[in-house]
Amino acid sequence: MKNEMTLHIKSLSENEAFARSTVAAFCAQVNPSLEDIIDIKTAVSEAVTNSVVHAYPNTVGDIKINVVLKDDFVTITITDFGIGIFDTEKAREPFYTTKPDDERSGMGFTVMESFMDTLEVKNNNSRGVTIKMTKKLSKDCKAMVAND
Ligand code: ATP
Ligand code: MG
Repeated sequence: MKNEMTLHIKSLSENEAFARSTVAAFCAQVNPSLEDIIDIKTAVSEAVTNSVVHAYPNTVGDIKINVVLKDDFVTITITDFGIGIFDTEKAREPFYTTKPDDERSGMGFTVMESFMDTLEVKNNNSRGVTIKMTKKLSKDCKAMVAND
């Protein structure tokens, strides 16, 4: 089974909740556990917040969110076309932030890494950043019992 969707949003903070809820709603069709849904929402929230806060300082740009469901796996790719990351390895370190005065803790990538199975962070060839995350979904026991 394979299904896919792509969402295009503006880098406005009011779209963060919309983005995470939409991705979660799309993933719900394969009956993941509540824990998986919460993990996915948290990771998407961190990635979209990064694009809103860091990619487009003082301006509004585009964010593209692609979700692929295949068998028990979800792949989420979040792309922006903003300023890019100077050092992607450094950016992934816990507590590393370029906005310490903005109440940022530098834990966004660490959260994404711990809530998903894999995380890739790269600068786009043209401009901006692409985050690719995957997760194996565990089946919701209650849903399986209900379907029997
Ligand atoms: P927190 O997520 O805890 O609020 P943070 O956003 O600074 O703080 P991370 O999410 O781990 O921490 O990101 C680390 C750093 O990587 C950021 O401070 C920023 O410099 C850079 N960064 C992350 N995402 C992007 C992006 N989409 N475009 C440009 N720079 C980014
Ligand atoms: Mg962040």
